[in-house]
Amino acid sequence: MYRIGVLPGDGIGPEVTAAAEAVLRAAAARADLALDLVPLPVGLDALERHGSTLPAGTVSALEGCDGWILGPVTTHQYAGPSMPNPSAALRKGFDLYANVRPARSLPAVPALYDGVDLIVLRENTEGFYADRNVLDGNGEFRPDADTVISVRVVTRRACERLARAGFALARERRRKVTLVHKANVLRRGDGLFLEVCRAVARDYPDVAVDDYHVDAFAMHLVMRPRDFDVIVTTNLFGDILSDEAAGLVGGLGLAPGLNAGDRQAMAQAVHGSAPDIAGRGTANPVALILSTAMLCEWLGARHADDAANGAGLAIRQAVDAVLASNAARTPDLGGTATTAELAAAVADALALAG
Ligand code: NAD
Repeated sequence: MYRIGVLPGDGIGPEVTAAAEAVLRAAAARADLALDLVPLPVGLDALERHGSTLPAGTVSALEGCDGWILGPVTTHQYAGPSMPNPSAALRKGFDLYANVRPARSLPAVPALYDGVDLIVLRENTEGFYADRNVLDGNGEFRPDADTVISVRVVTRRACERLARAGFALARERRRKVTLVHKANVLRRGDGLFLEVCRAVARDYPDVAVDDYHVDAFAMHLVMRPRDFDVIVTTNLFGDILSDEAAGLVGGLGLAPGLNAGDRQAMAQAVHGSAPDIAGRGTANPVALILSTAMLCEWLGARHADDAANGAGLAIRQAVDAVLASNAARTPDLGGTATTAELAAAVADALALAG
């Protein structure tokens, strides 16, 4: 029995989270996977009812969870101590150091490319992110009205464990790692990142490794995305490149992600809370559904559990089947289906396959 938290978030968050939960229940029933799904408050709704966007009760409940699903949150509206960014706080607080963001061509989806299958592996706990790179206070400060200083943190430990995760991942795939950095300018920070990653590479002689400066890489990614397998990079570069990669294969509505630590993992789509379409029931749930599949596969690998692994694979296959058959498409994919209709089609495909 796995205990899985379900945290809906803001904007389209509750819509896509309900969709992902419905699909997860269908996959678990099919795979004979015992799940205890625990709804937990987070975001603006939690602020209203519990006085914080990340209530202490939610954090303590997550300590007892094997993993959880986090919907997107409207962080640009968050300010002050009662409004911590749940995404950042949970990544940092639970040491979910590896953000795994695949970009894979999906059947019959209009996209710039087909045949793409890559993963951006992004460091998740430090870098240029001011809300997580210091113990107390904030990594951005303003000494006078016209000056802001932003502090970036790069540590050997974070680089090493990320690199190890990247090379291990590549071993299960096409055995190629691409390191992306800006060591020509950020000589110390990205220099350390590159030095550590290259040292780790020596332990994986069966995995090919190359590296690029991030600016040039942004171009190579657009021009020849099929050439890349696992891309290992720092926090901010990974955030940007994973959205770029999502744009090559059909957009943010399809881009999944997993925040993985050694003990727990958090399924979280790449996209935000999409205030422009919130409340209409038209958001594409595929990104969070595929994130949930990644969580199942992570549980399967961590616990050597075929049922969890099988549930993850079955979800991915059901999503592919629904997209290929054109059975249900949300407006971002040129269709008229609602979020719930697309989720129901995936759940039906799971039931049929079972
Ligand atoms: P966004 O990802 O929310 O939206 C960008 C565009 O993509 C919008 O046009 C939106 O309608 C579309 N889109 C996103 N997800 C979609 C989906 N599932 N289906 C269909 N279309 C989708 O990015 P933004 O507008 O820059 O940010 C909105 C809010 O989300 C901000 O407050 C931002 O801080 C926050 N944000 C949160 C997270 C997170 O919680 N993980 C990530 C990114 C941004």
